[in-house]
Amino acid sequence: MFADLHLHTIFSDGTYSPEELALRAREQGLGIVALTDHDTAEGCPRMAAACRAQGLEFITGTELTCELEGHELHLLGYFIDPANPPLGRAMRQFQAVRQQRIREMVRQLNALNIPLTAESVLDLANCQSPGRPHVARALVEGGVCRTVDEAFERFLKRGRPGWVPKFKIGAEDAIGLIHGAGGLAALAHPGLNRSDHLIPRLIEAGLDGLECFHSKHGPGVTRQYLGLAAQWGLLVTGGSDCHGLTKGAPLIGTVKLAGEYVERLKERAALALPFSPGPTPLRL
Ligand code: AMP
Ligand code: ZN
Ligand code: FE
Ligand code: FE
Repeated sequence: MFADLHLHTIFSDGTYSPEELALRAREQGLGIVALTDHDTAEGCPRMAAACRAQGLEFITGTELTCELEGHELHLLGYFIDPANPPLGRAMRQFQAVRQQRIREMVRQLNALNIPLTAESVLDLANCQSPGRPHVARALVEGGVCRTVDEAFERFLKRGRPGWVPKFKIGAEDAIGLIHGAGGLAALAHPGLNRSDHLIPRLIEAGLDGLECFHSKHGPGVTRQYLGLAAQWGLLVTGGSDCHGLTKGAPLIGTVKLAGEYVERLKERAALALPFSPGPTPLRL
């Protein structure tokens, strides 16, 4: 049994609906998937139903945009209750700021005489948690850029004229919110952050796992983080970080996490919730 524990849908900046994603997961021979949309868990109930229809096991999740000592980190929350009130409040705040950020990015682009409206970007995004990829797609649709990549390079990357800093939650607070919602916290794609020096502080705050397997980790990087996870007693997670049809072939299927790792996660999640019926049932 293989798992992909890092997937995005139209509930943030992915292009697949939960139903399309669950279908692709089954076609790729996966048996377990987690949904980890940016700063939201709203897609989880629909993804749970789609997975049931495809005969897949589903794990609730999210990917929170965090900050520690000036570094941006992404924390994956697994087995969270998507209806948990404190987590829901934090996510709604995230989403309000993301929508405001789209308006700010559009204002900055308008100042460069690029005709784009915030409404058109938000319509295209059609979700509560919009991001730069939606602005990039609107720039392509409007004929300003030929590709999403070009939009990032010219306008949206850090330091470019359309760039607006993103709201981030303190990483230690995020771990607390994830735990409060019955979940486990894992550091996403550590190989892309180059912030390994922060991991001991995250462990102090209760970090549970490390995303050793990721589509952008080469074999050497994966080995390095498997070693660190063993050394620090962290659980191992992994996923493709598939965003659907963004560029080239979709990433789903490129990372297949062995089922044993998921078993370890489930055991820990069950311990984290001693008075609950367990991590799997989704409270709808
Ligand atoms: P945001 O959360 O709004 O800052 O947007 C970050 C997201 O943009 C990432 O999760 C990626 O999915 C996407 N992204 C970042 N750089 C690029 C790029 N060069 N081309 C396409 N997508 C990108
Ligand atoms: Zn993304
Ligand atoms: Fe990420
Ligand atoms: Fe991601």
